[in-house]
Amino acid sequence: MSGIVIVGGGQAGAALAAKARALDADVAIPLIGAEADLPYQRPPLSKGYLLGDMARERLYLRPSEFYDDNAITLRLGAPVAGIDTAARRSEVGGDGLGYDHLALTTGSVPVPLPAAIGGELDGVFTVRTLADIDRMEPNFQAGARVLIVGGGYIGLEAAAVAGKLGLKVPLVEMSERFLGRVASRETADIVRAVHVEHGVDIREGVGLERLVGEGRVTGAVLSDGTMLALDFAVIGIGIRPDTRLAEAAGIACDYGIAVDAMGQTSEPGVWAAGDCASFDYRGRRLRLESVQNAIDQAEAVAANMLGADTGYVPKPWFWSDQYDMKLQIAGLNTGYDRVVQRGGARPCSLWYYAQDQLLAVDAVDAARDYMVGKRLIEAGKSPDPAVIADPDTDLKALLKA
Ligand code: FAD
Repeated sequence: MSGIVIVGGGQAGAALAAKARALDADVAIPLIGAEADLPYQRPPLSKGYLLGDMARERLYLRPSEFYDDNAITLRLGAPVAGIDTAARRSEVGGDGLGYDHLALTTGSVPVPLPAAIGGELDGVFTVRTLADIDRMEPNFQAGARVLIVGGGYIGLEAAAVAGKLGLKVPLVEMSERFLGRVASRETADIVRAVHVEHGVDIREGVGLERLVGEGRVTGAVLSDGTMLALDFAVIGIGIRPDTRLAEAAGIACDYGIAVDAMGQTSEPGVWAAGDCASFDYRGRRLRLESVQNAIDQAEAVAANMLGADTGYVPKPWFWSDQYDMKLQIAGLNTGYDRVVQRGGARPCSLWYYAQDQLLAVDAVDAARDYMVGKRLIEAGKSPDPAVIADPDTDLKALLKA
């Protein structure tokens, strides 16, 4: 069979399949997924699903009938083992699958805690797949002691669920403050305050030396010498793009599977989208690890495979839910030299500027600030920071200015 072979049944793979079918009624579209589940959304894994508020079926991006009705051939629980780019064939479950176009939507994998410091003990969990959560969730019992390692969004969201369910939650972040890579000090201060209010024991500037236990984790030694007794640990120390298949096939990788503006890799007929793909953005290689990027980039790639020839322009946005706090982020704050706060603690918004240029907005329980900020950034408009900070400013009016 030839056609469009999609490798990876996640957010990007599912979006690519749907878009390709919408554009071409006849092309064959096999969608190959290493995981056994129908393509599903990951954000609720560390939020409502872990909390027990969301049924498994609601995670699925589309019901199985959608794939049948649209002649998208799902092959799940079956990783693609290799790609022969010269012969335009992929290998799955011992079968060869020919392609005209092949899309790599292989996503990311969590950075594991090294086995030498306890990463392979029972009771040590990462947060990426539905199976990860199903294994971890029974441990989330009131009174249990969980160590969260890493103060990124995944670790903070897991801490929020644990805090809400009445667990004892120390969280260690080895750098000076959490969210250091992605958010300003001002945003981190607001997030920290909410966690402290809910009893999470935040320890910044403190790393994990090692987990201890015989077979199962029972404790941790921290870099400041503290010893903690534990029932389990959640590791959120980052992700890396899943480039294994691409590298084995000789496809160029640079901070991810390197694609051009169209989403094409170094090999003709091979494309990539979503978490695994790196692309040029203002002179540097960028990967975006977000739902919005996975969908938009995948749809752009589907259109380009079918001849659209339109460069992908990312419109970054992201969100995080912790307790009753909703954080929404528009734009990319890389290179900011100034943060302007609008409003008090909550609701409020933090506006990132590089000189006079508005780069990004973090909105905390402030949906309108987020919407206006996003539209201003997309329109390339940069209101005077003093005007933003002024509580009397009608934000919506800035869109017309
Ligand atoms: P994925 O969804 O990871 O899908 C990749 C798929 O490819 C996987 O199923 C993988 O098994 C499969 N695969 C890999 N190799 C092979 C192979 N050789 N053969 C076949 N299949 C293969 N983003 C937001 O914007 N907001 C949020 O609030 C948010 N919260 C998140 C919470 C959690 C817990 C996690 C894990 C992520 C969150 N994200 C969030 C990020 C978002 O989910 C990802 O950016 C998005 O899923 C990326 O989509 P993708 O298709 O590129 O990768």
